[in-house]
Amino acid sequence: MKHLFAIIFTVFAVVVNAQETHKRTLKLMGSRFDITVVAKNKAEAETYIDLAVAEITRIEKLISSWDEHSQTSNINKNAGIKPVKVAKELYDLIERALHISKVTDGAFDISYASMDRIWKFDGSVTEMPEAAAIKASVAKVGYQNIILNKEAQTVFLKLKGMKIGFGAIGKGYAADKAKQLLKAKGVKAGIINASGDMNTWGTQTNGDDWKVGITNPMNKNKVFALLPISEKAVVTSGNYEKFILLNGKRYSHIIDPRTGYPSSGIVSVSVFAPSAELADALATSIFVMGKDVGLDFISQLKGIECIIVDDKGNIAHSKNITIQNTVKN
Ligand code: ADP
Ligand code: MG
Repeated sequence: MKHLFAIIFTVFAVVVNAQETHKRTLKLMGSRFDITVVAKNKAEAETYIDLAVAEITRIEKLISSWDEHSQTSNINKNAGIKPVKVAKELYDLIERALHISKVTDGAFDISYASMDRIWKFDGSVTEMPEAAAIKASVAKVGYQNIILNKEAQTVFLKLKGMKIGFGAIGKGYAADKAKQLLKAKGVKAGIINASGDMNTWGTQTNGDDWKVGITNPMNKNKVFALLPISEKAVVTSGNYEKFILLNGKRYSHIIDPRTGYPSSGIVSVSVFAPSAELADALATSIFVMGKDVGLDFISQLKGIECIIVDDKGNIAHSKNITIQNTVKN
């Protein structure tokens, strides 16, 4: 009899605490977002997803350089003219971006947006531009010319025509903020996936960690590693389709802001870090640094790991990561 009660109680507890996983896919910040939450039922999940969407939309309004009314556009419009007062949130984001520029020795630089677009990844570039033109294309790029004033909470771009953009950090930041908001609202678990920039929290309903599939960009249908993650972010950056082939060498869409040359040698980088913002910025940085320097750099950072696929299809990873289920193709 005692056992029967125990069984009935257990079944009851499971039913009461039943949790379901719901996902919505939509376009935000010009990219595909997949928002997954664990909730009591569909209606509750949809309410939470709506909150995440509102948060991401809010961030897009703040950081978009396409929207001419955004604070970011205001900074850009006043380049070489005057400092612009911005929201603390934007100020802090720019301050963190500058910090990443410093530690990556300028491989990451939000003022890359000031670059003249001499490299087009639509097949129209068939020969190497002149060295002088490449050098001139980055004349206005340089994080050293982004001047912050903490007391006044202002941002000043020193050179006329200079611009900043959050292409390599914004989606990661949005994923972090949406996660933060849903956690604060009491959502136990979920995944915010911004086109491969994702942050997770909690576990699947069966108690297992979330599993992220890392695809080989050379064969997108094949996942070469399925890795469990919890309370962590992972960002995959890479675009196998977007490249230029010059004299047999493949150049990627990520450009070294210091030289103006597109990076080469790497087709995909995945970075695991406590935040998607940091993972996003570091993934872009590794492209610029190249495989060896990138691996060396990541191995010096605590709590951060990476997986790199080079243009010959080789997979390399930082020391503390174990890749299971590796399928080479
Ligand atoms: P995706 O999300 O398309 O994989 P990434 O996160 O790799 O993109 O960032 C690529 C984008 O970052 C580019 O489209 C450009 O807007 C910007 N970018 C390119 N090179 C740099 C750089 N060296 N530093 C900062 N941002 C960059
Ligand atoms: Mg990035």
